[in-house]
Amino acid sequence: MTETAPQHLVLVGGGLQSALIAMAMADRDDVRITLLEQERTLGGDHTWCFFDSDLNDDGHALVAPLVGRRWAGYDVAFPGFQRTVPTTYNHVSGARLAQVVRAVFARRPTWRLRLGVAATRLSARHVVIDTGDVIAADLVVDATGPQLERRSMRQCGYQKFVGLEVRLTAPHGLQRPVVMDAAVAQEDGLRFFYLLPLDAHRVLVEDTRFSDGATLNAARLTLEVRSYIEARGWKVDEVIRQEQGVLPLPWVLPATVEPKENRGARCAAMPLRAGYRGGWFHPITGYSFGSAVRLALHIRRTAPHSQGPALALMRRRVRRQQWWLMLLNRALFRHYLPADRWILMARFYRRPLPVIERFYAMTMKPWHFARLVSGRPPAKMRLRPWSPPAGLLPISTPVLTAPSPTASVYRTTRQEASS
Ligand SMILES: Cc1cc2nc3c(=O)[nH]c(=O)nc-3n(C[C@H](O)[C@H](O)[C@H](O)COP(=O)(O)OP(=O)(O)OC[C@H]3O[C@@H](n4cnc5c(N)ncnc54)[C@H](O)[C@@H]3O)c2cc1C
Repeated sequence: MTETAPQHLVLVGGGLQSALIAMAMADRDDVRITLLEQERTLGGDHTWCFFDSDLNDDGHALVAPLVGRRWAGYDVAFPGFQRTVPTTYNHVSGARLAQVVRAVFARRPTWRLRLGVAATRLSARHVVIDTGDVIAADLVVDATGPQLERRSMRQCGYQKFVGLEVRLTAPHGLQRPVVMDAAVAQEDGLRFFYLLPLDAHRVLVEDTRFSDGATLNAARLTLEVRSYIEARGWKVDEVIRQEQGVLPLPWVLPATVEPKENRGARCAAMPLRAGYRGGWFHPITGYSFGSAVRLALHIRRTAPHSQGPALALMRRRVRRQQWWLMLLNRALFRHYLPADRWILMARFYRRPLPVIERFYAMTMKPWHFARLVSGRPPAKMRLRPWSPPAGLLPISTPVLTAPSPTASVYRTTRQEASS
C-alpha cells in the first residue's frame, strides 16, 4: 500500500492569522506546513483582545490556549455618559501566541518554522524567497498584514495608538478594562484612552486617535500616556513594554485587498489572501481577531482546496458587513468635523447590547444596522465644510484641534505638561 505525501501549505507571515491557521491545522496529519516570517520573532510585540461574542464555540476552543486573561465586562466613558458593557473581554499576548505556535511546530517534525525569511513573490503554488529559492506548495496563504498603498490611503481614516505597559508602585484599582475613556480633550479626531489591567499593579495604557492622517507622533503620544497616568494619580515603577500601531480604516476597500485576479475563476491562481492583507478585518475598529479565527477554521476544514465556493461565500458575507460599516466610516471621516467624532461613538454605546456585540463581531442583520443608524444625527454634530474629492487634496487633512467637549482633569494635566 502506498502512502500519499502530505499536502504542503505555505503560510507567508508569522503574525496573528498564520498563527491561528497553524494552530487550527495541528491535528491534520495529511498536511504539512512551512511558515515564513521575515522577522526573527513570531507575533510581533502585540497584544490582541477580543469579545466572547466575536467567536462561536469552535472559535473559542481554537483560541483557548492563547487567552491569558478574561474579564466579565468592560467600561466606556464619554463626556456626561458612562457604561459598563457586560460582554466578556479576552486578552492574548504576542509572547503567548509565539509560545503556543512554537509548541505546535515542535510536535510536528515535518513542519518548518522559518524565521528571518522574507517572501519576494507569491502565486497560488509557489513562493520565491529572498535568497532566490522557490518553495512549491499545494496552497500558499498570504498573511503579510496591512499594506498601506498610496491609492487606498486617500479613502481611509486611521486608528493610531501608542501604548505603555507599566507596572505601578501601587494597585491601580481597576476592576475591568476601560475600552474607551473618551472623556478627555479631543484632538486629531476622536481621541480616547484604553486601559487594560493585566494584574493588580500592571496596566496597559494607550492613547488612541481616529484620525485623518497616518502620521504617528510616537514621542508625543508617549508623553500623553504618561500625563494621563499621572492625572489618574498613579506612579510608574517600570515601563515593561511599548506598543504602537497605525491601522487603516477604509471607506473603500483598498485595491490590494480585492484585486480583480482575486475574484471568480482566476482566484485559484492567486495565493489565498488572509488576515489583514485579505481584507478580513473590521473597517471601523481595525480589529481582525474574529475574522482571522473564522478563516483559520475554514482552512482547517478545506485545505488545500480552500479557495472554492465556500470561501467565496464567506468573503461575500464579510464584504456585505463591511459595506455597511464603511458607509459609517465615510460619515465618521468625511462628513463630520473630526472634533465631533466622539459624539457618534457615545451614541453607539447607548445602543442595546446585541447591536453592540454584533457590530463588533460583524454579524449584523439588517435590523441591527437599522437600530445602529436610526434616529436623527445628534444636533451637536457639525458637518465638515465641503472639500474637493480626494486625489485633489493632500492625503491628510490638517488636524483640527477643538476644545474639549467638557472640562476634564486630563486636559488640565496635558495643558500643564505642554506648557
Ligand atoms: C499593536 C496592535 C494591536 C492590535 N490589537 C488588536 C486587538 O486587540 N484585537 C484585534 O482584533 N486586532 C488588533 N490589531 C489589529 C489586527 O488584528 C492585527 O494587526 C493583526 O496582527 C493582523 O493580523 P495579520 O496576521 O493579518 O497580520 P500581522 O499580525 O501584522 O502579521 C503579518 C506578518 O507578516 C510578516 N511579513 C510581512 N511581509 C512579509 C514577507 N514579505 N515575507 C515574510 N513575512 C512577511 C510581518 O513581519 C508580520 O509578522 C492590532 C494591531 C496592532 C498593530
